[in-house]
Amino acid sequence: MAFNVDLHSHSRASDGVLPPAGVAARAAANGVQVWALTDHDETCGLAEADRAAMALGMAFIPGVEISVTWGGHTVHVLGLNVDPADAALAAGLAQVRLARNQRARLIADRLAAHGIGHALQGALAQAGNPELMGRLHFARFLVEQGHCQSVQQAFDRYLGEGRRAFVPVRWAGLEAALGWIHGAGGKAVMAHPWRNRHTPVQQTALFDAFRDLGGQGLEVMSGPRAGSGQDAWTRLAARYGFEGSRGSDFHAPGAGQFDLGCMPDLPPGLTPVWHDWV
Ligand code: AMP
Ligand code: MN
Ligand code: MN
Ligand code: MN
Repeated sequence: MAFNVDLHSHSRASDGVLPPAGVAARAAANGVQVWALTDHDETCGLAEADRAAMALGMAFIPGVEISVTWGGHTVHVLGLNVDPADAALAAGLAQVRLARNQRARLIADRLAAHGIGHALQGALAQAGNPELMGRLHFARFLVEQGHCQSVQQAFDRYLGEGRRAFVPVRWAGLEAALGWIHGAGGKAVMAHPWRNRHTPVQQTALFDAFRDLGGQGLEVMSGPRAGSGQDAWTRLAARYGFEGSRGSDFHAPGAGQFDLGCMPDLPPGLTPVWHDWV
């Protein structure tokens, strides 16, 4: 691969722990040459990230990871190379954040019912952006207070789908999310497809719908699963004519499988999603 490209990462603007400039510095130190910040449902970190990347001589792709509900399950769609000033994108993301913040109160209620008080304040104390509340903030609170031994245990016991404090959300629709991304000049990329909880039949229908709505890319190389089982996703991308994307899904130093830019290369044969950007 000609470039070290990392098109999936998080800052304190959502559920990462570093400020946008800190993520930029870490990416550059790891040799990343083309970098996208893709906070959940939020673009407020992009200006700082852009400035920091420029100072470090790194190409910057403004991005966002949009929470979508399709077929009763959550799907994450990356909007890459979007214009964060686009009004429809901004309005759509504001709606999604509202749903997040309503959910946060309900999660806190459920935790209280299980004897864990003050979880909303606790999660807010973990959040770098009070407008963007995620389950990871609750997980960090539960670990810090000694209710759980690890973030993974917090998801297994309380926050994961179907667990004691899980609160389902109706996120953005797929058509709406792709409309916002395309309206803002970006490409839509299906993130970490192996995390989708759909049945095989649903999964096929999802990829059909994604393609029919103009979805361009599939994140075949990403943090949680890179390097194992990627051949099937590469074949699927080729069958649908999707471009391939590569991203660490970095949230915090030492937290994920891969640090920024430290992923295997995109498999040969796929057109990189960044081919017309660099
Ligand atoms: P949310 O979008 O607020 O529902 O939370 C989803 C986020 O929680 C993901 O982006 C991850 O950052 C994190 N997450 C989900 N499952 C786990 C897990 N098992 N362990 C650690 N983090 C997780
Ligand atoms: Mn996250
Ligand atoms: Mn995700
Ligand atoms: Mn992510």
